[in-house]
Amino acid sequence: MQISQQQLDLVNDRIRALIEADSFYGKKLAEAGITHVDSPEDFTKLPFSEKKDLRDAYPLGLMTAPEEEIVRIHSSSGTTGTPVVIPYTAKDVDDWAIMFARCYETAGITNKDRIQITPGYGLWTAGIGFQNGCERLGAMAIPMGPGNTEKQLEMMQAMKSTVLCSTSSYALLLAEEIQKRGIKDKIHLKKGVIGSERWSDKMRNRIANELGIELYDIYGLTEIYGPGIGINCPGETAMHYWDDFIYLEIIDPKTGENVPDGEYGEIVITTLVKEGAPLIRYRTHDLSRIVPGKCKCGRCYPRIDVIMGRTDDMMKIKGVNVFPSQIEEVLGSFEEISSEYQIRISHLEGKDTMRIYVESTGDVDFESLSKRIAEKVKSRIGFTPIVKVVEVGVLPRSMKKTARVIDERFD
Ligand code: ZN
Repeated sequence: MQISQQQLDLVNDRIRALIEADSFYGKKLAEAGITHVDSPEDFTKLPFSEKKDLRDAYPLGLMTAPEEEIVRIHSSSGTTGTPVVIPYTAKDVDDWAIMFARCYETAGITNKDRIQITPGYGLWTAGIGFQNGCERLGAMAIPMGPGNTEKQLEMMQAMKSTVLCSTSSYALLLAEEIQKRGIKDKIHLKKGVIGSERWSDKMRNRIANELGIELYDIYGLTEIYGPGIGINCPGETAMHYWDDFIYLEIIDPKTGENVPDGEYGEIVITTLVKEGAPLIRYRTHDLSRIVPGKCKCGRCYPRIDVIMGRTDDMMKIKGVNVFPSQIEEVLGSFEEISSEYQIRISHLEGKDTMRIYVESTGDVDFESLSKRIAEKVKSRIGFTPIVKVVEVGVLPRSMKKTARVIDERFD
């Protein structure tokens, strides 16, 4: 999807602002002698920005608007080192709310809905993003934040929440709790808006069936506003994204070249109107593709497919490149197992070993099941894993992103 002249004009505006502010990226652009881009070809020659750069700019090197215009910062978690700090102007906060309200509307949510928000509030962009979008829409926010399942279920019943916002793992945990307690008839949920985490069709179906709700995938990342830059529409899995606020490219993660529409690659995003911390060609490391053609719903916003994984999820085992999504696809074809699984990779006696833990009920023969799964995984990835079947409920359910792949080789 080539960049339009209108989008190019906005990019030039942002380049000018970055250079004038002499911010982290302003300096980089000035050093590279870039002052503007004249054509789509020029645009694809602009250097990428990377999470590492954003860390190098810590704490406020990305700030591109005058300090008196900055009203807030957000920060991505620093689990792998220095955090990334993103400054927002009042207009950025507003634009984000407009995009998020558009997401709710696309999912058919209205100002008559009651939205229970379970993602965390604070430095992280999640909870507050869901909240601002909800208020912009005029719906009623029930700002729970994460955890305290007891209270969540109590409020869900008392407030008659119609929309649940959460991670997929927490939605599953709540669905299981509701079923266990037999309170489904007291729950009024109609829709779930689930933060972008890669999740299997099996898990999706389970949450949808157990809660009796429609599920929507919302996309976004802290570096680019937060969640709310795209969502799927009813009956479709692909997500519309808001091309009046962002320009999105798909590149080959190895060569950095754009791939044709329809082909999978890494999502790269340019913010078109962001003031506090504009980003040009930011590499997200999320894998997806542009879905070509017009959507049945009639909306003109372009679409990307469900996020297939992360470029850094790729595991090299016994010299073979393996994506967790490949294993997940194989596991999804077995009726007998639950949606939960765990992959452990270790290095024993000079060779790599992959163990896959899955859950099943006591009605099936664990041994023959594990053998059948191992054979099918081998036919997909080329080597045989060790498959262990355990009772349903044994594998960890987490309120945050569930760690499904544990690589013990580098411990
Ligand atoms: Zn659509």
